Amino acid sequence: MIDIPTLLGFSAAVLVSIAILLLLTRPRGGARLWLAMPFLAGACCCALLLWPALKQAPAAGYIGTFFALLAFAAGWQGIRSIFHLPPRWGLLLAPPLCWLVLVAAVFGPGEMSSLNAAGRAALAALYCGLSAVTLVQRRDPALPSARLLARILMASAALAAVAMTLSPWLPEPLGAGAPRTWAVAVFSGIVLIDVLLVCGLMVAVLKEQAASRLYDEATRDPLTGLYNRRLLDEKLGIWDQEDRVSGTVRAALFFDIDQFKTINDRFGHDMGDKVICQAARAAEQAVRRDDLIFRYGGEEFLCILPDSSLKAGMAAAERLRSTFERSAQEVAGHRIDATLSVGVAISQGRRSNAGALVAAADRQMYRAKHAGRNRVMGSDGD
Ligand code: GH3
Ligand code: MG
Ligand code: MG
Repeated sequence: MIDIPTLLGFSAAVLVSIAILLLLTRPRGGARLWLAMPFLAGACCCALLLWPALKQAPAAGYIGTFFALLAFAAGWQGIRSIFHLPPRWGLLLAPPLCWLVLVAAVFGPGEMSSLNAAGRAALAALYCGLSAVTLVQRRDPALPSARLLARILMASAALAAVAMTLSPWLPEPLGAGAPRTWAVAVFSGIVLIDVLLVCGLMVAVLKEQAASRLYDEATRDPLTGLYNRRLLDEKLGIWDQEDRVSGTVRAALFFDIDQFKTINDRFGHDMGDKVICQAARAAEQAVRRDDLIFRYGGEEFLCILPDSSLKAGMAAAERLRSTFERSAQEVAGHRIDATLSVGVAISQGRRSNAGALVAAADRQMYRAKHAGRNRVMGSDGD
């Protein structure tokens, strides 16, 4: 049977190796240290717990457990740092320090009361729960590993809560009873599996974040943040295939800022850029969250509204026209009175051709221009 010091020594070696590996994967500056920190703190914990196991020094055991709690807290901040969230020092340090002070002043050295063990488990549950909440709040479809990591952390929080409830009856380090080798083995096993899963998924989230950043850079327009023509060309073929099967009817809104050359000439290109951004924001306000907005060209834009009738498309176009008219009356302290013209068309369900849909909306937009600008025109036929 493996003895306790061997198990603790093995855990310390694994944790240090993981910390070194994480430092070598070189994630962005600040996040790098926070990602390695929980594993380093965990290794310190094992090293300190080795000391009383060899020399019967209980104070080292308390400080070791304090490091274990710091490891959970640092894990929470490690996950926050992935999303560029700054450390919340109070919540990071105060609970483990309170536990240490309570242990030193109330429970006394050499004695492991069930309150003490329940406190440890409660703090582990708290930090695992906080980490899971941080991940759930980000809800980014480009980060599937974040969802998996949140589930693992919720399961860890639930396990810690069970250990907290059963602490009077469980042997150390699971609870407050006399230490048993099997309990150390179970505890080390759970911690190691948890640590390996959490570490692997943290790296996976970072990689997915980097891939999503690259994809965004390739598919978004840098001035407005809207999708660009490259993504539109990709989507046209996808929509054709999807609609042939599902029969989805899409509305297309094609819009162009009126007399934009005059705005550039009178107020300069910087002001022109600001007006283009105003149009982008007006479109975001006018359409639904799942509708797609593209910057088609200079001051020309396209919105695609899935599952929409011509009536719904015309209503969204009118919202867009009036929102922009209001917001572009005055830009950066100058009276601009910019307006835009919108053309609306709808697709033909299973007989759809997305390229023809965009061309039909463009034709309607030109009708709006010829009819005097600052208006919406639409048609339900190609
Ligand atoms: P109309 O009402 O018929 O649309 O008239 P218009 O003056 O808006 O005509 P047009 O659509 O042809 O004008 C497009 C102008 O947009 C020409 C070009 O100099 C300007 N432009 C294109 N891209 C940008 C950009 O990124 N920033 C700025 N400031 N101007 C741009
Ligand atoms: Mg124009
Ligand atoms: Mg134009």
